Amino acid sequence: MKLIISLILIVSMQSCMSQENKKETSKSTFKITKTNAEWKQQLTAKEYYVLRESGTERAFSSPLNNNKSEGTYVCVACKTPLFKSEHKFDSGTGWPSFDREIPGNVSFSSDGNEYIGIEEHCATCGGHLGHIFNDGPKDTTGKRHCINGVALEFIPN
Ligand SMILES: [Zn+2]
Repeated sequence: MKLIISLILIVSMQSCMSQENKKETSKSTFKITKTNAEWKQQLTAKEYYVLRESGTERAFSSPLNNNKSEGTYVCVACKTPLFKSEHKFDSGTGWPSFDREIPGNVSFSSDGNEYIGIEEHCATCGGHLGHIFNDGPKDTTGKRHCINGVALEFIPN
């Protein structure tokens, strides 16, 4: 009996530990890491401001805001696919908006379940994309991913 209890303890401790590790991974470890100088060389000033300094582009300034073509939106810095055109909707905010991300390719900088105004990043290079809000389309996910168009590149189908 004692053995069984200690086995259960070990297993539950391990599952706690692996959750901790996952949190760490989504927060701070990215597959692509570059110095600020390297990013500055690769990105335009606007892209750098949004992706690396968590800036926000002017509303209605992105040509992707009104883009209704079918395709995939990838990270402008590392080309990781982030959003799909079928999940894009017109939020009227002036920023490209999606009701969901491509799972696993976007990370969120909070460890809680509160999704209100949480910052989202490219999960590969850590570039800032925008924020997620709970006032999205009620008939789908209810989420609004409010994304800077300058952080995205559109790849038509
Ligand atoms: Zn990226």
